[in-house]
Amino acid sequence: MKSWNDLQYAKQRILSHRQIANGAYILSFKRNFDFKAGQVIGLGINKEIAPRLYSIASAEKAEMVDILYAEKSGGELSPALPLFRSGDEILVSEPFGTFTQFSDDAVYVAAGTGIAPFMSRILSEKGNNPTLIHGVSYPEYFYYSDYLTQKLGRNYIQCCSRCPADDYFQGRVTDYLKQWQNLDTTKKYYLCGSAEMVVDTRDVLISRGVPFGSINAEIYF
Ligand SMILES: Cc1cc2nc3c(=O)[nH]c(=O)nc-3n(C[C@H](O)[C@H](O)[C@H](O)COP(=O)(O)OP(=O)(O)OC[C@H]3O[C@@H](n4cnc5c(N)ncnc54)[C@H](O)[C@@H]3O)c2cc1C
Repeated sequence: MKSWNDLQYAKQRILSHRQIANGAYILSFKRNFDFKAGQVIGLGINKEIAPRLYSIASAEKAEMVDILYAEKSGGELSPALPLFRSGDEILVSEPFGTFTQFSDDAVYVAAGTGIAPFMSRILSEKGNNPTLIHGVSYPEYFYYSDYLTQKLGRNYIQCCSRCPADDYFQGRVTDYLKQWQNLDTTKKYYLCGSAEMVVDTRDVLISRGVPFGSINAEIYF
């Protein structure tokens, strides 16, 4: 984990902080830096707690920077963050990270808040004709789904592991990829989520014939 001494950072005033699902929030502050879609910031509430990394979910040129985050039970920062309101100050580092090189016709595979770097790309209008496969436990965690349905149409695939109804693919993204008839081994695949999700997804893709070099990942640890 990085410490604040490793980062260039400044105080930022929260402009908006919305709960969008059970234990999930979008925190926004004014953008006063340039970044590339896919990059992260270090974020914190004071210098005693080490910064945690969060992908930027908003567009490169948007006025505000949006961070989509979920509370981790037992975590140090994420359960404390929702107590901060509009007008309160947080610490935010300069953006950094290399999960920024994407091909056209790419397949994005995200679990939970791992959708954030892909949202930044899509909202920034970068990359032609992406397919997005998003896996969540319950439907309320299909963040941005209205926008994505309209924007991506059939290229937006929702996988829900604990959904009662038949509105979505029933299962995880790995289950979807195992049986996906249109899986194209010539495309590039970009994965974002927990270490377990990334490893399992990569294994499935390789078993289906996608070359190792065509798979890129950002791991949320
Ligand atoms: C590149 C990158 C990008 C990320 N982007 C996002 C994002 O966009 N959105 C998002 O929600 N998250 C993102 N994350 C995850 C985020 O950085 C935090 O890890 C997450 O919010 C949890 O932080 P925390 O301080 O609440 O939990 P931590 O205090 O870091 O704890 C994490 C988990 O470990 C457990 N734990 C803590 N200490 C111990 C211990 N001693 N023994 C056993 N278990 C323990 C906790 O119970 C908790 O479940 C990203 C991570 C990385 C690396």
